[in-house]
Amino acid sequence: MPLLVMKFGGTSVADLSRIKNAAAKVKREVERGYDVIVIVSAMSGKTNELVGWVEQTSPLFDAREYDAVVASGENVTAGLMALTLQEMDVPARSWQGWQVPIHTTSAHSSARFVSIPRDNIDAKFAEGFKVAVVAGFQGLSAEGRITTLGRGGSDTTAVAFAAAFGAERCDIYTDVDGVYTTDPRITEKARKLDRIAFEEMLELASLGAKVLQTRSVELAMRYKVRLRVLSSFEDTDENSGTLVCDEDEIMESRVVSGVAYSRDEAKMTLLKVADRPGVAAAIFGPLAEAGVNVDMIVQNISEEGFTDMTFSCPTNQVLRAEKAINEAKARGAYEFGQLIVDDGVAKISVVGIGMRSHAGVAAQMFAALAAENINIKVITTSEIKISVLIDRKYMELAVQALHDAFQLDKAS
Ligand code: ADP
Ligand code: ASP
Ligand code: MG
Repeated sequence: MPLLVMKFGGTSVADLSRIKNAAAKVKREVERGYDVIVIVSAMSGKTNELVGWVEQTSPLFDAREYDAVVASGENVTAGLMALTLQEMDVPARSWQGWQVPIHTTSAHSSARFVSIPRDNIDAKFAEGFKVAVVAGFQGLSAEGRITTLGRGGSDTTAVAFAAAFGAERCDIYTDVDGVYTTDPRITEKARKLDRIAFEEMLELASLGAKVLQTRSVELAMRYKVRLRVLSSFEDTDENSGTLVCDEDEIMESRVVSGVAYSRDEAKMTLLKVADRPGVAAAIFGPLAEAGVNVDMIVQNISEEGFTDMTFSCPTNQVLRAEKAINEAKARGAYEFGQLIVDDGVAKISVVGIGMRSHAGVAAQMFAALAAENINIKVITTSEIKISVLIDRKYMELAVQALHDAFQLDKAS
């Protein structure tokens, strides 16, 4: 039997009527002759609420218990989706991660898949069930604890199941009708792309475009999963949405394909750090051990044997970072004059595979920001992207200005 994976995100299962709407889409595919694995997210807002409860209860929480709490949102929708399908005469059964069992690493709240054995679900399909509804975002560690895959992780569950079961396609149903040149909530000039290259999608996702979780794009690229993003609120067919595919399947030639932003960034600066071998390791080692995701790093030129070290990380890790830095200082790992935290910055990035062979994109980007009087605090570049940190209050303006500057509203 041909098999499809269909994933429904939080807004697509936000209430019982939306679950019904999603179930109707699943039923249509079953009627077309597919067995379907449905991956569901928690109802929209639920995971945020659960995370809030954990943080209120224990600011520096035990990650195992965080996962135990936040994984529960998906369990509810999986059961409700199976019930809704049954009411529509579609034989369906729900699966929590441990029942499959979805084996993951033990890295709580950012676990990775180890294996997804097919036997249990295949056996149910063989019994005549047409749909397996799997709770997204969660798995089981070797220690037997519930794990989660990081925010947005249901996308990755979907792609991993598509790879494990050799699905014909992995359809990600969400509240937009595809991948856009930038977040359509920020500018109405954002344009839907019919296709986007894996590499570009990977960068956009990792730089903040939350329409797909980064890891899901990585897996799709590695296992050659046909990955599509489409609307759960519209009628859709085989040509709807955006196909994430290999570079050579794309006709449009463009230098910049999209603009991404990440709102909740913080910039931390250690003033007056001794400029000697080993000091960067002494600073960033303890941060890594504390689970801080350090992103950009800038070291100033040295004056009289001292330097300043600046790095960025998500705002919700500032507390952890400060604790790790102060503990390292107390241990005598390194000395510094002062720690300055600016938790009001955002990261804006432009992405495009065309940048590999095209000079001048950085200059054009900086000029567009300068024209809006937006000050750049930190810059990083790689082969197909340029990122800057700016004051958060200019975030929307910066995205709009860059979208205009690179004329992303027009197809090339
Ligand atoms: P789901 O709950 O279905 O997983 P998400 O909220 O995680 O949905 O992702 C969809 C959202 O991603 C859209 O509503 C949109 O605001 C945002 N988004 C950010 N960047 C983009 C982009 N380039 N294209 C489309 N959507 C984007
Ligand atoms: N519910 C989880 C989250 O909001 C996982 C997901 O929806 O993909 O991050
Ligand atoms: Mg999502």
